[in-house]
Amino acid sequence: MNDKTSNTVDSSSENASGSNAANSEARTAPRNFIRQIIDKDLADGKHTSVTTRFPPEPNGYLHIGHAKSICLNFGIAEDYQGACHLRFDDTNPAKEEDEYIQAIKRDVSWLGYAWSGDVRYASGYFDAIYECAVELIKKGLAYVDSLTAEQMREYRGTLKEPGKASPYRDRSVDENLALFEQMKSGEIDEGAAVLRAKIDMASPNINMRDPVLYRVRKVHHHQTGDKWCIYPMYDFTHPISDALEQITHSICTLEFEAHRPLYDWVIEHCTLPAVPRQYEFARLNLNYTVTSKRKLKQLVDEKFVSGWDDPRMPTIAGLRRRGYTPTSLRKFCEMVGVARADSTVDMGMLEAAIRDDLNQHARRAFCVLRPLKVVIENWPEDKVENLDAPVHPQNEAMGTRAMPLTREVYIDREDFREEANKKFKRLVAGEEVRLRYGYVIRANEVIKDASGEITELRCSYDPDTLGKNPEGRKVRGVIHWVSAKHNVPCEVRLYSRLFNEANPDKVEEGETFLKSINPESLQVLTGCLVEESLRGVLPETRYQFEREGYFAVDADSEGDKLVFNQTVGLRESF
Ligand code: ATP
Ligand code: MG
Repeated sequence: MNDKTSNTVDSSSENASGSNAANSEARTAPRNFIRQIIDKDLADGKHTSVTTRFPPEPNGYLHIGHAKSICLNFGIAEDYQGACHLRFDDTNPAKEEDEYIQAIKRDVSWLGYAWSGDVRYASGYFDAIYECAVELIKKGLAYVDSLTAEQMREYRGTLKEPGKASPYRDRSVDENLALFEQMKSGEIDEGAAVLRAKIDMASPNINMRDPVLYRVRKVHHHQTGDKWCIYPMYDFTHPISDALEQITHSICTLEFEAHRPLYDWVIEHCTLPAVPRQYEFARLNLNYTVTSKRKLKQLVDEKFVSGWDDPRMPTIAGLRRRGYTPTSLRKFCEMVGVARADSTVDMGMLEAAIRDDLNQHARRAFCVLRPLKVVIENWPEDKVENLDAPVHPQNEAMGTRAMPLTREVYIDREDFREEANKKFKRLVAGEEVRLRYGYVIRANEVIKDASGEITELRCSYDPDTLGKNPEGRKVRGVIHWVSAKHNVPCEVRLYSRLFNEANPDKVEEGETFLKSINPESLQVLTGCLVEESLRGVLPETRYQFEREGYFAVDADSEGDKLVFNQTVGLRESF
């Protein structure tokens, strides 16, 4: 509400000016280093088509960082007429839940992407992965280790010191096969043995120091039930899954770069139907929020937010509820680009993306957030005049909306002052203002209650001011209003940033990211009044409340009780 200035003529536009970069509708495929690699692979005949995959672990809802990965993987498939698979990386059964699987599918679809074929699960390949493990054992390239977890850590060495061989490293192939079988059949306890690749305990890359391939986990799995009590590690599962699905370009974030030699080692030594390659790009980080499922889960579990889809969350579900459109998120990801250097993107860029989209497409409406009653004393008691207002000031095709004007109306408390200087372009006692799309009114009398609070304004209107300015008098500005008889009461939820620090992860020893949480990130306004034409609107419908910002109908709305979430302000405010 910090900027309500406007001209006194209704034809003026009050649209936010966002970044023009997001304005262009034309979709030109962004060039990035991954697309250059693909272009070359196609030109060289290394591949004749492109297959990518998006491989979320179902241990939380997707966040804006995942949106970048989705746009990259599915976007490439779209542009190259290839395929993109949705594959749940579900090798860690204890932390995974079906709720997350459903939410992830919903989010990908909502963003406007369609995965190729059925949803896939890494767990769907457990038989094949097991066969690869047996193959490695038979080739003398994997062994069952019986060191404790702590011993294994000691033996692994450090960045400066090489590791040393486990005493079990030279078990015979037969012994390893027998022990691995015992792991599989449940005869070996959790933690008592693991299967390790036999690579190089002196490798400068710690990931290559005989990494664990399989561990015993006696837990139920949401897809495979109780069939398995050994589960393959991510680093073993991923290359095999990619090869089985004939993925050509396996795109992941930079933290996997040091895992690539292991990825290639698995592909090289197991008998598989294809040779996928891994490419890494930089994660998306946004300031004033966190993008880690673990931390987001903590915010949910410890009730700092109402759920994974709380409109303050940087999750796709949260942004959706907040009023973001799929188009705006895709545009944002395009603006961010794909590079190999880590960087943090300003939240303002995300906000500019949705502002531009809504500025172009959202219907306009009046909503009075803090109602103050105005009685127009020279307006006949029962007279209703249906004024015409455009649904969108720049898009006539969107039509008009009827704005019934009656003797009693509400305006926003912040649009009135008993006294004000020239900068206040709203209603002041004894002066005039235009009711947008209607007449000019003058505030003649201010009524207060015993405590001195203003309860009502007694005004008069000038019937000769519809669509034209009065002659020889100055009107301060234009304000919005709703009829006291024709309106829908509603609740409006205003949001500010969830964290007060640009980088909540940067904390002193002993502190956590929770330290900079903003206790005032949600402000609930009740008793707001929205114009009559919004009666019965459905959740997720988005509006520009003129002079206030962009808002979306929340799913908490019930019948005639509407709830709106503030999506973003009209202009950049930070
Ligand atoms: P988190 O750190 O939030 O738990 P994750 O990387 O463990 O995320 P996954 O479910 O494993 O989450 O991620 C699925 C895919 O999304 C992976 O390919 C991962 O590289 C990618 N991804 C995750 N976070 C980001 C991010 N911030 N920016 C870009 N891509 C991301
Ligand atoms: Mg992960």
